[in-house]
Amino acid sequence: MRRIIKVFWEAMKRHGYASTREDEQRSIQAMDEKTGATVPAREQYSAEEVIFREGEPANCAYVVESGLVEISTSVGGERRVLTALGPGNMFGELAALDGTPRSATATATTDTTLTLIVDDQLRSRVEAAEPVLRLLLQVILKRFRREQNLFRHGHTGRTLEPNSLFAPPTSKGAVDKITLESDLREALIRNELALHYQPILDLSNSTITGFEALLRWQHTKLGTIAPQKFIGIAEETALIVPIGQWVLEKACRDLLCFEKYAANDLTMCVNVSGRQFAEPAFLPEIADIVNRTGINPAQLELEITEGVLMDHRSAPLRWIEQCKQLGIRVALDDFGTGFSSLSYLASFDIDTLKIDRSFVAAMENDPRSLKIVRAISQLAHSLGLDVIAEGIENSAQHQLLAGMGVESGQGFLFSRAQPFDDAVELL
Ligand code: C2E
Ligand code: MG
Ligand code: MG
Repeated sequence: MRRIIKVFWEAMKRHGYASTREDEQRSIQAMDEKTGATVPAREQYSAEEVIFREGEPANCAYVVESGLVEISTSVGGERRVLTALGPGNMFGELAALDGTPRSATATATTDTTLTLIVDDQLRSRVEAAEPVLRLLLQVILKRFRREQNLFRHGHTGRTLEPNSLFAPPTSKGAVDKITLESDLREALIRNELALHYQPILDLSNSTITGFEALLRWQHTKLGTIAPQKFIGIAEETALIVPIGQWVLEKACRDLLCFEKYAANDLTMCVNVSGRQFAEPAFLPEIADIVNRTGINPAQLELEITEGVLMDHRSAPLRWIEQCKQLGIRVALDDFGTGFSSLSYLASFDIDTLKIDRSFVAAMENDPRSLKIVRAISQLAHSLGLDVIAEGIENSAQHQLLAGMGVESGQGFLFSRAQPFDDAVELL
């Protein structure tokens, strides 16, 4: 169990959910300065002095700075030494985390200096942790407490219950999330993913100039699940990489079918997440899909959000260049909702700006939003970019946008995203 907790704690640290001992020590000192030293940062113990006793309430953990500490417990009235700890070792963290009384006694075996870690420092980190990691910690702590109890008192012993930090609602969300994640792993194999297509129209004459491919998940038990509910999970778990590859291939193949029914060339817009670009194989795979399907790369437009441009792990400058070399277009999606930094427009060779639907929705009643939409459109045009307005829901919005020179748009006024056959009907 000790090993499980160690492995778990290492995982928490790797993912930035728990800090290293060095961090803990630093944060104690920072806290001292802030709080006017209401909590001592360090404690000194002489040889044989007890630091805490089994059964006492706990409000902190310790790190051994110098000296030695022995952890012992009493089993059937007999004292048993569990371990001896030296500089750099942490102890007392379990009770500080789950709010139960101390389950062992800690004694300094030589003159010892300890750094204190107050329970709030631990708990605030657990509270801020990703829900599934929090659930894992809860499960491991509970299991550890049960084993500990059996070891000491046999089956009749009272199990120590973790405190309200791990209240059931938090765990339920985490269980739902991890269940959905497991289902998503199988969704591709079981053919449960589908692409729906929302038409993009020329606002001057209402002809369809292209489609945006939008992912849907037909869950066997939960019905149709919208992308907001599972794209985040897919990104966290890197499942977005195989899913994104499937999306691209399917959208390219469907583009070829759409073209049979269209009088003009169509553009296929595909959403891609930063996680996909961080994968070295992603661009060669796009090139491969373009080659295998035989589409004209100029008819494929990859939609990214500002978050992708800000994330240097995905090396945005390099891959936008590579997309350009392949002849593929790049659009900046949801423009206006992120940092909307003009430096992105200057630094990145983007073809299309998609004005977020929140501006389009506010435009009619809010003159400032109207001015923002007009300004974004003028700026984009002066940089030679195409503009697509998202979320057009009524003809007043359509007229306003067409009047200010926005050339393309999509929205429920024209059509929601449709399954392939219905989208063909629209053509
Ligand atoms: P998005 O790329 O901004 O897609 C537009 C979203 O706005 C779609 O939601 C669409 O159904 C919705 N929408 C379109 N017109 C209107 C309108 O007139 N009114 C309103 N209220 N909504 C409208 P959807 O399909 O739920 O997709 C949500 C987001 O999920 C997408 O936002 C995109 O960021 C992401 N997404 C969808 N498919 C994929 C995919 O294949 N890969 C990745 N990475 N992300 C995807
Ligand atoms: Mg999009
Ligand atoms: Mg969008």
